[in-house]
Amino acid sequence: MSAAMAVAGALIISGPAGASPNPLADPAAQTARTPLERQILSQGNGWASEGTGTTGGAAAEDSNVYDVSTKAELLAAFTNAGSQAKIVRVHGTIDANTAPDGSPLTCENYAEGTGYSLEQYLQAFHPASYGLSQKPVGPQEDARRLAAAKQAKSIRWDIPSNTTIVGATPESSISGAALRINGATNVIVRNLTVRDAADCFPSWDPTDGAEGNWNSEYDLLQVINKATNVWIDHSEFTDAPNLDSSQPHYFGRQYQVHDGAVDVTNGSDLVTMSFNRFSDHDKLLLIGSTDSLTRGDPGKLRVTIHHNVFENVGQRAPRVRFGQVDVYNNHFKVTEDSTIPYGYTLGAGFESHLHAEANAFTLPAGIDAANIIGRFKGTAITTIANAVNGEITDLRAEYNAAAVPADQLAADDSWTPTLRTQVHPAQAVPGLLHKSTGPIFTAGGEG
Ligand code: CA
Ligand code: CA
Repeated sequence: MSAAMAVAGALIISGPAGASPNPLADPAAQTARTPLERQILSQGNGWASEGTGTTGGAAAEDSNVYDVSTKAELLAAFTNAGSQAKIVRVHGTIDANTAPDGSPLTCENYAEGTGYSLEQYLQAFHPASYGLSQKPVGPQEDARRLAAAKQAKSIRWDIPSNTTIVGATPESSISGAALRINGATNVIVRNLTVRDAADCFPSWDPTDGAEGNWNSEYDLLQVINKATNVWIDHSEFTDAPNLDSSQPHYFGRQYQVHDGAVDVTNGSDLVTMSFNRFSDHDKLLLIGSTDSLTRGDPGKLRVTIHHNVFENVGQRAPRVRFGQVDVYNNHFKVTEDSTIPYGYTLGAGFESHLHAEANAFTLPAGIDAANIIGRFKGTAITTIANAVNGEITDLRAEYNAAAVPADQLAADDSWTPTLRTQVHPAQAVPGLLHKSTGPIFTAGGEG
């Protein structure tokens, strides 16, 4: 009996025998035969299933299905047909740092005509002469901003509302782009590899920390400006092959060319991240970028993060402000040969409501369970049935045992997550996720 027939008297799907049921008419009719790019988020699968739900471009007319293999084709697909439902299938590697004719654009190309040179920038703001008390001001900073604006125009791409974007082949990836879901709604990103949103023009901030820091502008995918209903699934986010560890140090500090991997900010809401692979990245998932009460964040920034693998990640996995964020059944792997210094995993920021349940942590000697939580003005966190190196461990108790009184975290009894698929025991998670995260290319294309 089909799912449609089960709804007695309520729904009749007519048509030739063997026709695919329409999952938009009846979500329960979505089957393994529904092509990946036509699938929608199931009811109850995390915060993105709340409100109007997340269907992306599943309803696209055939004329709004785009197979793209160049930057120009991809950007045309995003622009065509406004906010009508659309499906974008990415073939091969699309490099954002390319000219309209497809030729590569280098950092030097962006800097041409601006007067910027890294050598002169380093001379102008060397702490020995410029000090550490004020942010860079002067001709080289102006030139850096001009050059940065040229790169931003080239690599910052907005995915429109009602879109599903998928990788079409195992070779599919988008490289060098700063993807955004910018004020848009109802977007699905699946089966896609997104790598290395390197900033050609990091800015030196002498006032960031005790010794100053190099900061960059671009996230691999930014969910920003009241974007809602976003499902990010079976995708890969990584800096590879351009690892932080391959970058130089200037003024004794890492020349950081990356910012976030997937950041959710500025009043955005209702996001589900499932079965993704996050690797080789420092500041990973920032949920909420300010403690300000006036920027639309209170009551928003609700995100579900489940069944993802995190490997060689430094911090913010996630770091939360305001939002009710459900983190369950993920595997966080820190190994002896991690090239990125490990800071913490779960960041309890201002007014945060983090619920971490049945996650698995694999930690090397020298990093213990007390390191997993970081506190950034948060007051509470719920941790239940997580495993560290295979042993069920009370993460909050471990954290509190090592923290000074002012940094203690209470249990967060303000909410209980309900929008969940099956919750597996933490010890089963590494095996379960070993081969099931990241882009998938099975014959039938099912999820
Ligand atoms: Ca930043
Ligand atoms: Ca960011």
